[in-house]
Amino acid sequence: MRKLFIVLAILPLFALAQIKDKIQKIDSVLNYLYQHQLFNGTVLIGEKGKVLYKKAFGMSAAVNGKPLSTTSSFNLASVSKQFTAMMIMILKEQGKLQYDDAVQKYLASFPYESITIRQLLTHTSGLPEYFDVAERYMNLLDTLTNANMLALLADKKPSLVFKPGEKWEYCNTNYTTLASIIEAVSGMTPDKFFEQHIAKPLKLNNTFIYSIKMKTSPSSRIFGFHYENGEPVAEDLVWMDGIMGDGAVYSTVEDLYKWEQALYTGKLIKKTTFNDALTPAALNNGKATQYGFGWFIDEPGVKVSHTGSWVGFRNLIVRYLQKNQTLILLDNSRNTRARAIVTNILEDKSYVLPETQLITNVQLIDGTGMAAKKSSIRLIDNRIYATGELSPFPNETVIDGKGMTLAPGFIDSHSHHDWGLEKNTDAVAATNQGITTIVVGQDGESKPVDTLKKMITDHPVSINVASYTGHASLREKTMRGMLLRAADSSEVNEMKKLLIDDIQKGSLGLSTGLEYEEGFYSTRDEVIELAKAAAGAGGRYISHIRSEDINLETSLDEIINIGREAKLPVQISHFKIAMRSKWGNANRILARLEAARAEGIDITADCYPYTMWSSTPRVLFPKKDFSNPVSASYATEELFDPSASVMTHFPANTKYEGKTVTEIAAMNNETAPAALMRLIKEGEEKGGSIAGASMSDEDVISFLKWNYTNVCSDGADGGHPRGYGAFTRILGRYVREKKIMPLETAIYKMTGLTAEHLGIHNRGLIMPGYYADLVLFDPVTVSDNSTFTDSKALSSGIAMVWVNGKIVYRDQKPTHEHPGVFIRRND
Ligand SMILES: [Zn+2]
Repeated sequence: MRKLFIVLAILPLFALAQIKDKIQKIDSVLNYLYQHQLFNGTVLIGEKGKVLYKKAFGMSAAVNGKPLSTTSSFNLASVSKQFTAMMIMILKEQGKLQYDDAVQKYLASFPYESITIRQLLTHTSGLPEYFDVAERYMNLLDTLTNANMLALLADKKPSLVFKPGEKWEYCNTNYTTLASIIEAVSGMTPDKFFEQHIAKPLKLNNTFIYSIKMKTSPSSRIFGFHYENGEPVAEDLVWMDGIMGDGAVYSTVEDLYKWEQALYTGKLIKKTTFNDALTPAALNNGKATQYGFGWFIDEPGVKVSHTGSWVGFRNLIVRYLQKNQTLILLDNSRNTRARAIVTNILEDKSYVLPETQLITNVQLIDGTGMAAKKSSIRLIDNRIYATGELSPFPNETVIDGKGMTLAPGFIDSHSHHDWGLEKNTDAVAATNQGITTIVVGQDGESKPVDTLKKMITDHPVSINVASYTGHASLREKTMRGMLLRAADSSEVNEMKKLLIDDIQKGSLGLSTGLEYEEGFYSTRDEVIELAKAAAGAGGRYISHIRSEDINLETSLDEIINIGREAKLPVQISHFKIAMRSKWGNANRILARLEAARAEGIDITADCYPYTMWSSTPRVLFPKKDFSNPVSASYATEELFDPSASVMTHFPANTKYEGKTVTEIAAMNNETAPAALMRLIKEGEEKGGSIAGASMSDEDVISFLKWNYTNVCSDGADGGHPRGYGAFTRILGRYVREKKIMPLETAIYKMTGLTAEHLGIHNRGLIMPGYYADLVLFDPVTVSDNSTFTDSKALSSGIAMVWVNGKIVYRDQKPTHEHPGVFIRRND
């Protein structure tokens, strides 16, 4: 007996200690959020009629705002709905209306016969949202009122969103209509009725309905704002705010607590009448919703709540009915974070405090092409929060940019850095040159989106990955291993299905590698059919075109025609002229693309800054006649320079690796064409890679400078030096040394333009709200160091790289942070 007694005595003490701990935690969290411009407002926590916590943080307006106090009146926005519902319940107790009366009984002009008052109270009417109706039909210079909203509904009779009672859908029109009913039934305007029947009896001295039709407002009224790049900017009432019922009640945390406590009593209406407000409404089919009269029923009998969001205001009221515990949180800075965090602390749930970091003293290049400017930038978690002249918050992590340039992280529109990425998760090949997002699935070869996503989940990586769906990979799945032919119509249909499925899962679109044998034997129609399917699913098209040398012109015709027929954006990848006698024709080719653009075809390109490519030597035989000596001679004369082209990888005979084709010919006492045929024959089984010298620097520069060309690497971790140095080579060799374009333009071609070409959102620019993918570099020293003999040499001048707000590369070393994500189309 004694033991039990002790336990019973300790329990309330324990609960008391627990709530004290929570309040302490909430106070420190609110202070933290306030100091980080993430909360500005007032909070009250009460239990059984006692105030446990009450505090005001911040200011009452963007400009000249007095400090807030717990008697400051906030615009409650949708938290007002519980008051509108109460006024209807009062009228019901007075016997002036019934919940199941048709609205038309009181508002003769209301154009929907079967809608009842109850359906308005519970958001089951099917009425359309009044914001949309008003914006569509009204002169935006007029103030919107309940009367002209009702007239608009009567006049236009917009169709219902669903049949009354069939569904639940939150809609403000329900409550503006209720306000009109209150006026019709009581003969008083809703604000007067509110004052007389709610505010006065409960002594809510700083609570009132206010609309912009009223010229003056009580002195306790405060104003909404939001932070823009660290500065408060006013955000308060607009032309719509002449209307009442859905919002427009102003109140304080203190008054709201009085109101909330009165709901446990019969002060305004009988307790039994009020029970309806906290009972989940039922649909026609009997299914319960999660809404009563002006209240969300989170858990019947346990927890009810409502949020309110309008202009700068973000409010919350939560009632824990069994404990008689209440949380009231009002914010006038458009910040929502405090709502969830404070609720979670009260409910013993976990929460994460947002973290910020400040990067100061940088030349900011934002990725739009605009001129660099001195700035600071603040990150919050994985996003950009603000830019401009920003001073540090208390205890904030500050990184001194030392006057270097800060740009959006580079996006590589054609990458093979996914090869081996699951082992090589730091992806230094990409990050050392400032790349934060790679786009894979190129040249017709891809892994299914599901496989890629799983790979990144199982092996987190430091960079973001997006992917196209490869044409050859689709052929491999559907053509029973016989790829050296055109697909038949049933195979094309099967490919279409797989393609659409992959695009719906997040692939950017279709990629082809039509110069490779796996794609080469497809017909133009096969590719157009697939491109049309990609277009229908919202995807794009990127291509290693059918020929980059002898049939370059007809191959360009093909991709232009795909854009025309399939009506989707098309991109020529690793744009080049790989044939000696055609060098110098870049501008003529670009004129042709400009003509296609003028015709309305969205054709773009990407390009890497090297005169050597890397591929299989088989691409040197445009007709795929690998043992024809005439074709081999043509290749050595026209398509590449055998004395400058190096076998980078040749497992069948590693003695050839690092040697030029001319040197290999000498080793075997044969001509260069004969050596080329030998390499194809001996490499038939195990393959091989050649770095082919076959472009002119003038053409490369012309292509890079085209307004619709973005930069790519086409690189992997090793092999061709582009894998480690393409982007830094542009910044050092082409921008600083050759001055082919301003630095801002080059950055635009690595970031903002690239994101546009790929359809990637919220990356590629330094703007508040965008993901914090960033690169800090020194434009005076930045350069590539990788070569064919030292292909993994790290770039100079890249000081720091952030991916999703985390530093992944610093002082030429990976940090082993792996915040990379899979980027889905339309993310
Ligand atoms: Zn390619």
